Amino acid sequence: MAATKHTCLYQNVQSQQLRDWFLEVLETYPELTDRRIFLRKINMKRSTMRAQPVANGRFFRRATRDYRIDFSSHLDVTEHVKIQQLPKEVVVGWFAHELGHVVDYLHRPSLGMISFGLGYALWSRYMRAAERRADQIAVNHGFGSEIIATKNYLMSHSTLPEHYKKRLEKYYLSADEIEGLILAWNEDREMPEIVEVE
Ligand SMILES: [Zn+2]
Repeated sequence: MAATKHTCLYQNVQSQQLRDWFLEVLETYPELTDRRIFLRKINMKRSTMRAQPVANGRFFRRATRDYRIDFSSHLDVTEHVKIQQLPKEVVVGWFAHELGHVVDYLHRPSLGMISFGLGYALWSRYMRAAERRADQIAVNHGFGSEIIATKNYLMSHSTLPEHYKKRLEKYYLSADEIEGLILAWNEDREMPEIVEVE
């Protein structure tokens, strides 16, 4: 096997299993070869997992910018589940989605371009579009069933706080919509190339 050129730096991640799973997902993203990706465990109040550029000296050039996936030490999904207790599929789907955001960021103007003046309706449309792109990228990397597993896991846990459920419905695609993405991707892949005949 060829040596991987994916670089993952772990911050406060003790679980070897999580490290392995993350690297496994990362290695299926060729766009992230030679790019420094951090995985960090921290205490977060408002989110369970997120992807962001790292504000360091390398931030100012898009070509060298580092990215970091943060996850909460206890996912607030259902009465403080530890991420290690989640099924592998669910965690992998989650990582794949977050790396989808990172790949999406690579091709987009800096986050600073997003104006605070955006109206709420515009903002939620923007958010939804960003979540859709992250899912689509993950699906295109072969993580369709894992993305669905993550989604179903979140939706089937009735102890989710109401505000979290509302956010899921507002910004995130439903399992049905993701099935649509998977279908589209499968069709594209199997579509014969169109040869133009003069
Ligand atoms: Zn997302």
